[in-house]
Amino acid sequence: MTDQTARISPFIDAAMALLEQHATEVMALDQAIGDGDHLINLQRGLQALQAEAATLDSLDWPSALQKTGQIVMTQVGGASGSLYATLFLAMGRTLKDQPPDRLHWAQAFADGVEAARQRGKSAEGDKTLMDVWIPVARVLEQAARENWPTPSLCQQINEAAAQGCEATRDRVATRGRASFLGERAIGHIDPGARTSQLLLQAITAGISA
Ligand code: ADP
Ligand code: MG
Repeated sequence: MTDQTARISPFIDAAMALLEQHATEVMALDQAIGDGDHLINLQRGLQALQAEAATLDSLDWPSALQKTGQIVMTQVGGASGSLYATLFLAMGRTLKDQPPDRLHWAQAFADGVEAARQRGKSAEGDKTLMDVWIPVARVLEQAARENWPTPSLCQQINEAAAQGCEATRDRVATRGRASFLGERAIGHIDPGARTSQLLLQAITAGISA
């Protein structure tokens, strides 16, 4: 798969733009149940990736994902930085020496989510970004198995992400900073779940364009 370069930079640009559009909303969510740095953490990571866009675009997918993971690991602070870095590094490992077909992408995402889940010691229902990532991993696996066309796949990803994000609203957090708030976190969407939903929206828009 060496002839298949990643061309990752349009996704980075789209993610930056969508986060910027929703900056006020994300800041408000994070001020309610986080420490107010989540958006800045993600923006710092995306800026660092933009600075390396030319290199990333020239690599094949496994190498681009590994490099993305390394950049995020070194540049992004907070829980989300290490979780995203873990996701990308594990995805790169799974895709190495595999054809980049639907099945392997689905496997790579599932492996990445599982690695991050272990790192964060979190499960679905803990009111974190995992409440978006885990259902989306299930959609990808089903889509690969059943060979869904791309528009349905993208639609289902966005629906699962929206549901997963919304489901965090009425939960008590058992991981991350919001867990210190106990019942006071109820009624607030988890900021990491919301930004995950936005990032997936940016990616699916790029895939179906
Ligand atoms: P920090 O919490 O260290 O300030 P960020 O503000 O960048 O890091 O990210 C906060 C988000 O990270 C939360 O909204 C939540 O979605 C996610 N998160 C925090 N801790 C965990 C964990 N242990 N497992 C999974 N996700 C987590
Ligand atoms: Mg924070």
